[in-house]
Amino acid sequence: MRFQIVQGDITKMRTDAIVNAANTSLLGGGGVDGAIHRAAGPELLAECRTFHGCETGQAKITKGYRLPAKYVIHTPGPVWHGGNNGEPELLQSCYRSCLSLAAQNHCCSVAFPSISTGVYRFPLKLAAEIAVKTILDYCRDHKGIEEVFMVCFDSNTKAVYDEAFKKETMAI
Ligand code: ADP
Repeated sequence: MRFQIVQGDITKMRTDAIVNAANTSLLGGGGVDGAIHRAAGPELLAECRTFHGCETGQAKITKGYRLPAKYVIHTPGPVWHGGNNGEPELLQSCYRSCLSLAAQNHCCSVAFPSISTGVYRFPLKLAAEIAVKTILDYCRDHKGIEEVFMVCFDSNTKAVYDEAFKKETMAI
């Protein structure tokens, strides 16, 4: 599996699937969620309505519509409430659920945004460590997904993910 941390806009990614840091309504919102819905067009919201929501840590898959990606995998990340409310486990569950859904749908390449580190206020360093470890562990144990991108919107986020990757791969 090839793992790449890049800086950019996830709506431009030509991967089989991109992940949306959604909310539990799945009816759109701000941040990356708003950007994905704007770029995909109104058909995306119409398909999202059919799910009647999604629990935090779980994931649902839709088509990509006007996006270059074939699918969008929507996952509501945990809102940070201090860290003693299962936030780390829920964030890990988001990454696992998305990878599992991607594999079930024969996706070879997947792009993730930095789930929960925007308005949901999850501490960036901890979120990056959980994301990198969960993705690398999952892909070591399951075959099928060949390429995973972490798409960081800004340079600080990318630097923190780069550091988490260094730490994780040196620990092995
Ligand atoms: P959450 O509600 O899960 O915290 P946000 O959308 O507020 O989600 O933020 C998650 C991350 O996505 C933040 O790092 C934010 O800067 C980033 N982001 C916003 N727009 C985009 C985009 N178009 N592509 C990639 N990442 C984005």
